[in-house]
Amino acid sequence: MRKVYLDYSATTPLSEEVFEKMKPYFTECFGNANSLHSFGRDGAYAVDMARRKIAELLGAEPNEIYFTSGGTEADNWAVKGAAWARKEKGNHIITSAIEHHALLNTCESLEKQGFEVTYLPVYENGIVKSEDLKKAITDKTTVISVMLANNEIGSLQPIRELAAIAKEKHILFHTDAVQAIGSVPVNVKELGVDMLSLSGHKFYGPKGIGVLYIRKGVKTDKLIVGGHQERGMRGGTTNVPAVVGLAAAMETAVRDLDKNAKHIKAMRDRFVSAIEKEVPFVIYNGDREKRLPQNANFSFEFIEGESILYKLDLAGIACSSGSACSSGSLDPSHVLLAIGLPAEKAHGSIRFTFGKDTTPDEVDYVVGKVKETVEYLRGISPLFAEFKGGIQNV
Ligand code: PLP
Repeated sequence: MRKVYLDYSATTPLSEEVFEKMKPYFTECFGNANSLHSFGRDGAYAVDMARRKIAELLGAEPNEIYFTSGGTEADNWAVKGAAWARKEKGNHIITSAIEHHALLNTCESLEKQGFEVTYLPVYENGIVKSEDLKKAITDKTTVISVMLANNEIGSLQPIRELAAIAKEKHILFHTDAVQAIGSVPVNVKELGVDMLSLSGHKFYGPKGIGVLYIRKGVKTDKLIVGGHQERGMRGGTTNVPAVVGLAAAMETAVRDLDKNAKHIKAMRDRFVSAIEKEVPFVIYNGDREKRLPQNANFSFEFIEGESILYKLDLAGIACSSGSACSSGSLDPSHVLLAIGLPAEKAHGSIRFTFGKDTTPDEVDYVVGKVKETVEYLRGISPLFAEFKGGIQNV
């Protein structure tokens, strides 16, 4: 059966080239990067080189780069660490209503510890307004965290503007850039952020490895305590092959950004215009311009996203309903509710995310299958029958 993968925001395949670079660190250079002998030193050298490369790609210093187990840990550490370290100054945190659960559940656990959290609204386009941030700041605010790019609807946030507001008030600013690396340029100095999270598996690197950038001079508490790895800030034996893989994947992702983003956007736009032309009663969620090139999110009215997903899966097509991380839950997506979609429309939503190897032929195949699936499901949908009956009765 033909297989088409359009779920690149959930994860990407590891590039062959990156895999080749990682291999020796599983077998030959397997030493613990903290050991003093030559096996350990080989690992430590590879980690050092990777740290330098990542720092250069982000516009940071090597000693501002901390390896984590992924985006989730980086988000937890950024916000918990900064909030704990500043609890004498205040207990107020600001974030947005459309963050990934890695951030939202971090805030929820801080609320249980007595912190107060303000969730900034977004509007129909899925974008935070700086005036709302200015209004939300109090003299107890210590940390602000707003994501650079949303994982469900791809909306891009005005991080530079928001970080400047935080800086003026001496409040720490963190951004979750997990979806942004390789899709839009990311430079910590240009953005003016104090902390930034990223994750290897979103840009053709390995899973289970991420980075938290912490600007020099920022005081933060530890999240994972243990050995003295990561300059005493994060315990745990360094995952050398993954670190090497993340740096190699990031180097390629940044080098090829323009070429890939142009191709991916062309595939996405081909898909969006075909769907809007061929399938009636669809809503294209999010901002048309200020969004990630890879993202298309549609609500198909009168039917369930899960049913569409399963039918497309039977046709060999992989996409996601809501965010991949929340699939398994039947609650409507918090992001779609935040942009003002009613629950029944949020339920009928599907995210298609395109990759560097997506072809026009694949896009056309998926458009055909989506059209067929939606027609079939509407054919057996009581809601659609009622709507059509309504129309005839007018
Ligand atoms: N933040 C965003 C915006 C994401 O999309 C994801 C993963 O989907 C994460 C954080 C979590 O990253 P990880 O899978 O590396 O834990």
